[in-house]
Amino acid sequence: MARIFCIANQKGGVGKTTTTVNLAAGLAKVGQRVLMVDLDPQGNATMGSGVDKRSMALSVYDVLLESASVAEATVFSEKCGYHVLGANRELAGAELELVELERRDKRLKTALAAVADDYDFVLIDCPPSLSLLTLNGLCAANGVVVPMQCEYFALEGLTDLVNTIKQVHANLNPDLQIIGLLRVMFDPRITLQQQVSDQLKAHFGGKVFNSVIPRNVRLAEAPSYGLPGVVFDPSARGSQAFIAFAQEMIERNRSVLGA
Ligand code: ADP
Ligand code: MG
Repeated sequence: MARIFCIANQKGGVGKTTTTVNLAAGLAKVGQRVLMVDLDPQGNATMGSGVDKRSMALSVYDVLLESASVAEATVFSEKCGYHVLGANRELAGAELELVELERRDKRLKTALAAVADDYDFVLIDCPPSLSLLTLNGLCAANGVVVPMQCEYFALEGLTDLVNTIKQVHANLNPDLQIIGLLRVMFDPRITLQQQVSDQLKAHFGGKVFNSVIPRNVRLAEAPSYGLPGVVFDPSARGSQAFIAFAQEMIERNRSVLGA
């Protein structure tokens, strides 16, 4: 049965999409069957997986409105080694359309149930908001991975997300838990980042992943080639960190979730 993880943080530009596509590629590299779901109308995770968001016949939008199944709307990215349920601007409209519909927050969960046996991991790239799209992701997921930069306001920003996750856990999805906090774009030479990193560990203990993703220009260059860094330049420091993180996710999945 597939384990489903949301990559979420309501802040923009914190590394959600980079984490999603590189974790997907890292897991695929070691033989895991992976589906990457893009829930952001910007479609960056789609493009960053080598799928052209403008020429997709079907997308996650059609799945949320129940005019297509996940299997119908998913494409395989040969270069990346994982399946992609893509998104484009059409998805921005789904938010309004869904409000009118029944089971509006459980649409993705219902749709993914049909492919549960086809994958080991489903990774959902969430938009930078706590919107109905993100809610669909959180209702569908077993766990949340939170990428974060070790900056001054990082801990404050976490409070809203943690509260939302608690509410979803209590009211909509008793399965849901924070799997871990991932420190990204990390620069150990910056004292403040070290301090915030220490605070994070003091606050959240074992919820902080051991893997740390360094700031690395190869990770930032890769999307312009339509590839995750892990595929574009596997030997880069950032890619190596994501490959180690994929291994940590496999282990945590076994121990914490008993899979
Ligand atoms: P989000 O999805 O949270 O908005 P992105 O993953 O798109 O964030 O990252 C924001 C920007 O930072 C992108 O330009 C991305 O290429 C860059 N970036 C992300 N992680 C790293 C990293 N570890 N090192 C260097 N640049 C990074
Ligand atoms: Mg993004």
